[in-house]
Amino acid sequence: MTQEQNKERVLSGMRPTGALHLGHYVGVIKNWIELQKSYECFLFLADWHALTSNFDEIDMIKKSRIEYIRGWLASGIDVDKAIIYCQSAIPEILMLSQVFLCLTPPGWADRSPSWKDFQSNSNANNKLDNLGFYTYPILQAADIAIVRGNWVPVGEDQVPHVEIAREVIRKFNRLYKTNLPEPAPKLTATSKLAGIDGALKMSSSIGNVISLFEDEKSLQKKINKIKTDDKRQGVESPGDPNNCTVFSYHKVFSKAELCNEVDGLCRGAKLSCGECKSKLGKSMKEELLPISEKSRQISDKDCLEVLHEGNLKAGKIIKNEWNNLKEKIGF
Ligand code: SF4
Repeated sequence: MTQEQNKERVLSGMRPTGALHLGHYVGVIKNWIELQKSYECFLFLADWHALTSNFDEIDMIKKSRIEYIRGWLASGIDVDKAIIYCQSAIPEILMLSQVFLCLTPPGWADRSPSWKDFQSNSNANNKLDNLGFYTYPILQAADIAIVRGNWVPVGEDQVPHVEIAREVIRKFNRLYKTNLPEPAPKLTATSKLAGIDGALKMSSSIGNVISLFEDEKSLQKKINKIKTDDKRQGVESPGDPNNCTVFSYHKVFSKAELCNEVDGLCRGAKLSCGECKSKLGKSMKEELLPISEKSRQISDKDCLEVLHEGNLKAGKIIKNEWNNLKEKIGF
């Protein structure tokens, strides 16, 4: 038995829907880099999921696939430790999803937080009003089950999706006498980075993002636009770091000593917001510029080759699992 076969499995994907930005890096990729040290990681481009919201933007999805692979590799995802693949390249995932759809009562899909948000938000994207989006937790359950995933890294708001997957898998196991693991959520420490405008979430559709591939000049330009404590009346008055988006970035990118220093100086009205952003710039550049530099050395061809290899590796495991399951189902 190889070392990989002894490790528990983590399954995680990203929907390739536009530019790769720091929200993805902080909320997902950094976490993957840690997880690949201890788990057998299955990391995939969730392009069937991308279709649920962007079914009329196929070219964008195709372009994003390459960009995401480039960003994952440049950030430190190691193909010797993690299997990188594309969901749509392995049709057996959809086959299991179809079986799951048949045994799932609609009420379970109704519990999806994403669907509930869509239903209750009058400004929600109308394109989401489709059965693919409504049932996407069921496809997610198939994504997890088909690789016998044990853990799914999620933010707290996504835990109900993993709960739905557990229930679907439990029912499937009961019906067909299988032993697929019931996955558990692995809560991520920092799951969201605020947008530069102070919005809770960084999002390409809002346009409040910093790309993972900024050069030095454009990165500082974006940092200069990050929202500060809007109640602060100039440098002479004390600020409140807890009400400041710049400070929330310090907490992610700066060392604890610098965060403490900034906190004290800001509250004591001894630091201008401009200086504070320069300090933040230094911390962010230290971490991010090597990534953007490395990304420039990774060609589209490199990305496609990595993806091809990963599709073969994951495909073999998934096809094998599907054959076992199909036999149990009796198809
Ligand atoms: S000094 Fe820094 S932490 Fe304080 S309000 Fe300005 S930007 Fe925010």
